[in-house]
Amino acid sequence: MNPLSEREIRAAFVNCTKGAAKRLAVPRDLADQPWDDLDYLGWRDPQSPGRAYLVAVLDGRPRGLALRAGSAASGARSGMCSMCLTTHPGGVSLMVAPKAGKAGQQGNSVGAYICGDLACSLYVRGKKAAGPGARLHESLTLEEKIARTMTNVAAFVDKVTA
Ligand SMILES: [Zn+2]
Repeated sequence: MNPLSEREIRAAFVNCTKGAAKRLAVPRDLADQPWDDLDYLGWRDPQSPGRAYLVAVLDGRPRGLALRAGSAASGARSGMCSMCLTTHPGGVSLMVAPKAGKAGQQGNSVGAYICGDLACSLYVRGKKAAGPGARLHESLTLEEKIARTMTNVAAFVDKVTA
């Protein structure tokens, strides 16, 4: 993806107030992010690891989600990320996004199991290892896996804004 500025990132959030988007912790090392290898930018607030964020460019527009991140799925010995389909021996995290607008104010949310460090892009590309047996053997090309991840991310954003 093309690098995003802090301003673009803050303006992208669809499911939190403008005030919250202004205050949330944007990574300080934006210039050092591996943008060429990212399908979306995902991070956790280092001060508050229960807060996670995801920003993807969909139809040419940055869209961001504020998420509440659980710890690794409890009881599960492994879990599969519903975005990139990487299996993590240590489990994946349940990420819950309050819905955008009125539905969110009424407490509605959408959840998905996602790589706990939100590094789907790097797992898909083999730039980060998730442990033994982490990836199913698939005949898909890298491009197809990337496209699938983006389809899943877009569907998640759609559910939050629906
Ligand atoms: Zn993932």
